Amino acid sequence: MVEVKLDRITKRFGNFEAVKELTLSIRDGEFLVLLGPSGCGKTTTLRMISGLETPTEGRIYFGDRDVTYLPPKDRNISMVFQSYAVWPHMKVFDNIAFPLKVKKYPEDEIRQRVKWAAELLQIEALLDRYPAQLSGGQRQRVAVARAIVVEPDVLLMDEPLSNLDAKLRVTMRAEIKKLQTKLGVTTIYVTHDQVEAMTMGDRIAVMNQGRLLQVGPPTEVYLKPNSLFVATFIGAPEMNILDASLVENGGIALEGDGFRIPLPGDLREVLGDYIGKEVLVGIRPEHMTVKGVSRLEHVTRSAEIEGVVDFIEALGTDTIVHAKVGGNIIKIKLPGHIPIPLGEKIKIEVDLDNLHVFDRSTEKAII
Ligand code: ATP
Repeated sequence: MVEVKLDRITKRFGNFEAVKELTLSIRDGEFLVLLGPSGCGKTTTLRMISGLETPTEGRIYFGDRDVTYLPPKDRNISMVFQSYAVWPHMKVFDNIAFPLKVKKYPEDEIRQRVKWAAELLQIEALLDRYPAQLSGGQRQRVAVARAIVVEPDVLLMDEPLSNLDAKLRVTMRAEIKKLQTKLGVTTIYVTHDQVEAMTMGDRIAVMNQGRLLQVGPPTEVYLKPNSLFVATFIGAPEMNILDASLVENGGIALEGDGFRIPLPGDLREVLGDYIGKEVLVGIRPEHMTVKGVSRLEHVTRSAEIEGVVDFIEALGTDTIVHAKVGGNIIKIKLPGHIPIPLGEKIKIEVDLDNLHVFDRSTEKAII
């Protein structure tokens, strides 16, 4: 096990900067998720940690060891890819044993270790089969068993569940997380799936366009996003974003098309510079409710705005109400099945402790 430190790493392909001055420490034994949209530089970052790619600038450390220019085989890392990459001509046993054979482990120890890894992944019964005789989920278990069999210092996973169907993904998500906790191996896991990131990561590092935007525990990134990008990338349905101006008239308030949200006085200090200016307001669908229909739990400060029901998405467990507020459509997530007639006028209660305000030009969070 080892701490991984990325110190201002940049990767250029020709003139294109795929990763820009990324600094990040992954703690010993931590499960860190690199999250971001396609093309944001996650895989490139992972490949630099593995040694498959060399940074153009910056340094990578495993503990105190500078590994920036070490080849993969000298780093004691293992990788699991989206495409499983199990060898079709080898039985499951030989696939798992392969990295041990390369490292010239004695036969006895190979057998013991393969048994240990196969038991952990619950594939003992499949050791004599060829990959073609396995399901996608079983193949991915083989790939994970092969990755952990050498007891790597660092386990690197690149979208390992993307090829599995939705149900299996949920099962494997929990299994990989449990396995990692049991082994305590420092793990860096790449995904563009925010639910995977939220449920698996000890911390999430959100990237966009080659830059690291925010890193923190899942609830922190979810509740206190530092930018418009992080706020809208995490959470489903997406956070509602509304144009507004911050006005002072007695107290301070956010005013926009069809709504006025009076704000508690204690926010005046932090929002003071923005009085008279245009801002963006962010409200998550689950931080609002429809008065008389449902209630916000544990809410100390709220405001009320008016809307008209435009559309209803009944998801079974939840209902998403699309409400027209002026020219805006706001989504409100209510627990349970709540039939509200279309066209009905509603009062929307907004949780002010979970309200976000962003600077329009920098898109950074102000609150
Ligand atoms: P995805 O989720 O789609 O895999 P990603 O976040 O992992 O995306 P990367 O694979 O790291 O993204 O790619 C980041 C950017 O760098 C992309 O624009 C990609 O086209 C570019 N890139 C990656 N590898 C190379 C390369 N060898 N040569 C040129 N450009 C590259």
